[in-house]
Amino acid sequence: ADDHTMAPGASSMLVRAARRALASSAATGGGAWRVCIVGSGPAGFYTADALLKGSPDVRVDILDRLPVPFGLVRYGVAPDHPEVKNVTERFTGIARDARVRFAGNVRVADGAGLTVSVDELRARYDAVVLACGADGDRALRLPGEGLRGVSSAREFVAWYSGHPDCARAGWDLSRHDTAIVIGQGNVALDVARVLTKRPAELASTDIASEALAALERSAIRRVIVTGRRGPLQAAFTTKELRELSKLDGVRLSVLLGCNADAGSHGTADDEGGALSERALAALSGEADRPRRRQAELLRKLWLESVGGGGVARQFEREIVLAFHMQPVGFEPAGVDAGARAGNGGEVAGELGAVRFERTQLSPDGRSAVGTGEYERTPCGYAFRSIGYLPSALPGVPFDARRSLVPSAHGRVLGSADAAAMPLPGLYCSGWYKRGPSGVVLSNIGDGAETAAAILADRA
Ligand SMILES: Cc1cc2nc3c(=O)[nH]c(=O)nc-3n(C[C@H](O)[C@H](O)[C@H](O)COP(=O)(O)OP(=O)(O)OC[C@H]3O[C@@H](n4cnc5c(N)ncnc54)[C@H](O)[C@@H]3O)c2cc1C
Repeated sequence: ADDHTMAPGASSMLVRAARRALASSAATGGGAWRVCIVGSGPAGFYTADALLKGSPDVRVDILDRLPVPFGLVRYGVAPDHPEVKNVTERFTGIARDARVRFAGNVRVADGAGLTVSVDELRARYDAVVLACGADGDRALRLPGEGLRGVSSAREFVAWYSGHPDCARAGWDLSRHDTAIVIGQGNVALDVARVLTKRPAELASTDIASEALAALERSAIRRVIVTGRRGPLQAAFTTKELRELSKLDGVRLSVLLGCNADAGSHGTADDEGGALSERALAALSGEADRPRRRQAELLRKLWLESVGGGGVARQFEREIVLAFHMQPVGFEPAGVDAGARAGNGGEVAGELGAVRFERTQLSPDGRSAVGTGEYERTPCGYAFRSIGYLPSALPGVPFDARRSLVPSAHGRVLGSADAAAMPLPGLYCSGWYKRGPSGVVLSNIGDGAETAAAILADRA
């Protein structure tokens, strides 16, 4: 990670050099036209690829605010998933095309200081593609969210991936034995896996060395991954769940809590009463094949958790998947209890517990409805894993309600109004275009659509 952290002087020199390079028309020859792609993650590279295939005369400059390319593939995809990270070989191949240039350390913002503005880029290029991903995160807006020990999965992932923004963040995992992850998507499972996997198994990956050292000293023995709704609504994929169930030395328990049968309600300590015959049937009778396979795996894991099957194994750590739990607040550790920061009554100090309200599914199964029963789960760490958020760029319309750039087929629209017209020469791709969902490969079609719009507008 330290290799990526530059002295301010060095980075300002780089920005000036990049600015000069972008200003020059050296990359274009007769008949050539120029596209600037902001963001060198999968969306940036797949859009570039489709443009290069669609036009022999195009010249593509890819900019990134970071010194090195590949976005979340480098700084998000878990270090123990090299088969996903290998896609960087494909991106490197695209970057080697003589028509492509990459400029790192160039932040696109309002044009002040060391930044370049979107308007500057639009003046210099035939087309500008915003492929800046989603670098913010959703907050829960609950009391105590500012306590030490409460953080976002995004920050934690960036830290263990060696992201330059987090190189000196530090994370002391040696102080508490329980962590809670709020959210049940694949990122939540990544966090749980990295926290519980034997550090020796991570040592051969490209995990940041500081993170590996912190994991070696970690006192965490139990990671509880919580979701507001039930097992059939969980966002994680079967592949990630299966991987979690096979970790050496880690027991994976499933707490179904309140189940699909709204009449039957179990508690966190009463797994035996948690699942009715009807819910079991619903779990394995799901029509959709991938969902059914996931339900069957969850059911098997649940049966093992309540002692109804499976092979007894020795374990060093435990991951608990807990459903029907909605966080309502974070409580400070005893020593800090009652401590107030004086800013609107916000609680100060170190995290001691998360308070949950138990839920049951609404009749249509779409939302979680609080039951009025509360429980307090002591823990020293809590990671929000409830989604990433794209940030607004100066001079670019942003639909704050949907947290998205308004667009149609990759063309950025003048406003969020359905009747708005496209802004000439301005496009978007990837998570910046469709919001933070989908895997690396989802960006292929997305990049192709944006490139097709650019090529059509050029024709
Ligand atoms: C934690 C995590 C784990 C994941 N794991 C997997 C996985 O295992 N398998 C899988 O298939 N998918 C995974 N994904 C999803 C995958 O990473 C995304 O689908 C993909 O990275 C989105 O591509 P993107 O190019 O839109 O955004 P990003 O990959 O985020 O790239 C955006 C780029 O834009 C740059 N940028 C941002 N703002 C600016 C600016 N103002 N100026 C200049 N540059 C800027 C950023 O530095 C970044 O390099 C994961 C996602 C996360 C968050």
